Amino acid sequence: MQTLTVDLADRSYPIHIGEQLLKNRELLVRHVRAKQVYIVTNDTIAPLYLPALIELLDGYQVDTTVLPDGESFKNLETLNQIFDGLLEARHNRTTTIMALGGGVVGDMAGFAAACYQRGVDFIQLPTTLLSMVDSSVGGKTGVNHRLGKNMIGAFYQPQAVIADMSVLESLPPRELSAGIAEVIKYGLISDREFFEWLESNLPDLLARDPKAMAYAVKRSCENKAQVVARDEREGGLRAILNLGHTFGHAIETHQGYGVWLHGEAVAAGMVMAADLSHRREAITADELDRIVRLLERAHLPVKAPASMTPDDFLQLMGVDKKVVDGRLRLVLLSKLGEALITSDIEQDLLQETFAACRA
Ligand code: NAD
Ligand code: MG
Repeated sequence: MQTLTVDLADRSYPIHIGEQLLKNRELLVRHVRAKQVYIVTNDTIAPLYLPALIELLDGYQVDTTVLPDGESFKNLETLNQIFDGLLEARHNRTTTIMALGGGVVGDMAGFAAACYQRGVDFIQLPTTLLSMVDSSVGGKTGVNHRLGKNMIGAFYQPQAVIADMSVLESLPPRELSAGIAEVIKYGLISDREFFEWLESNLPDLLARDPKAMAYAVKRSCENKAQVVARDEREGGLRAILNLGHTFGHAIETHQGYGVWLHGEAVAAGMVMAADLSHRREAITADELDRIVRLLERAHLPVKAPASMTPDDFLQLMGVDKKVVDGRLRLVLLSKLGEALITSDIEQDLLQETFAACRA
């Protein structure tokens, strides 16, 4: 097992990364302060991992909420089921909420922890690659509103994250690839060496080799933690984590949420950002090609849908929350392994990118 620390002064917490960690009682209870544990999971993950976890916590008062699976249930109504459960089973202020699941479960359980009795302890047990490398670092929690994704939420840090590579075994292949998109993102924005490691080791990741996976998770979390530690509440730098996301959100929205997975849209969006960066002469044609090839090898889309016109993009990017003062701001590459945030965007080059990146 490897442990890294997300450095946030008195809110610092460890991320434990390894194999069979969900079978390690000592590790699980290390971060539980009293005798009550409340597990939040969903109806896909529960049959796979919940019974063993409950058994392991023998001696504790363990209660659970099993949410229906899906982003469409990430809302206040479903969140209320968690509060109902906590109150009905009389969980008090020293309880510990455990989130057993992907980003949806993690965001909801984390937000429940932030709100329940004004804040109780919270442990993340991420079960998707995406939640291990992305939502487990940074403390963003919340739910969707009818009028916008993640619009109701809080910054709330967990006591610990326990990332068990063994659970990735059951992850559907599309979800695995979607997580790899965010992993590749860290290489692109801040870690050229890691990008090159991914070029060599992608087959091991696709084969879910636990050692390779643990390395990729650790390196991703380190990269994200570094950015977050310098900008916990998204003052500026943290925006580089959104490489490919402005284009990607436009694709997700245009196609209808859920048709493209987030990571898939981010992959195509990162190609667009890289293409524009190449047109601005920040990366070479060869580097652009390497980026596209790596994403393709990870079974990710590298073109925007043919049905999307440049106007569709501009319109959808105009309502993106990353737009400041009505000016389009984009995260681009200043070189391979380094990102910059700019609102100084050449419209003609952007149009060329739209044309070049359409399927
Ligand atoms: P998800 O939680 O919906 O999980 C994807 C699917 O995989 C679900 O059907 C889930 O039930 C299933 N699954 C999860 N683990 C499994 C396993 N081990 N075996 C088999 N099936 C498994 O999706 P996600 O990609 O993990 O997370 C997306 C969510 O995360 C979005 O709501 C997004 O807003 C949020 N998010 C939050 C942050 C943050 O900083 N808080 C960052 C990125 C994403
Ligand atoms: Mg993302």
